[in-house]
Amino acid sequence: MQIAIDGPAGSGKSTVAKKIAEKLNIIYIDTGAMYRAITLKLKDIDKKFYEEACNNTNIEFINNKIFLDGKDVSSQIRSEEISKLTSDISKIDFVRKKLVSIQKEIADKNSVVMEGRDITTVVLPDADYKFYLNASPEIRAKRRTLQLKEKGLNADYKEIIRDIKKRDNNDIKRENSPLKVADDAIVIDSSNLTAEESIEKILSYIR
Ligand code: C5P
Repeated sequence: MQIAIDGPAGSGKSTVAKKIAEKLNIIYIDTGAMYRAITLKLKDIDKKFYEEACNNTNIEFINNKIFLDGKDVSSQIRSEEISKLTSDISKIDFVRKKLVSIQKEIADKNSVVMEGRDITTVVLPDADYKFYLNASPEIRAKRRTLQLKEKGLNADYKEIIRDIKKRDNNDIKRENSPLKVADDAIVIDSSNLTAEESIEKILSYIR
């Protein structure tokens, strides 16, 4: 079974996708984490070596942790620095080709819940179930602010909403695999839903 979920940053995709995978006892793949991991690898090297470095990269998920060239980078990829740099790295054609091929291979061999920006349109256009999870930028920024504060980190709502809008803009307007609603995707607006309600809604279509 292939379940594909797309949506903008902060729409709740990760929480929802992870829980659904758990309930259905299938694999959860966070493709955003893969773009973040490759960004971590490329950020300190000269652009002219990007392609070679990219081709010599190994990315895998083990127990919902992401490993870059054998090292667990699950925490490191969540920094604000990486969040900002990832939208630029994810525009690069050879980066997308490499990651999409890994994603397709995983989904060929396993039942998956896969979430990202281009899963319903490019990676798994023939998935059994396709969802587009959305929420207003204000709600998404509020959720993110709360999340950071709960972790005891600094969080400035105004700065966060500016970043979210910038990221939306980059992901929607890019030429290469932009974020968009697939024709046959079920659109769910999570603005007024709790995570549990969004999960139930998605499961109700799958059941
Ligand atoms: O989902 P997350 O916010 O962690 O993704 C980080 C960035 O990775 C996104 O802003 C987007 O630019 C990129 N991305 C992508 N295609 C995907 C998943 C993520 O371009 N399938």
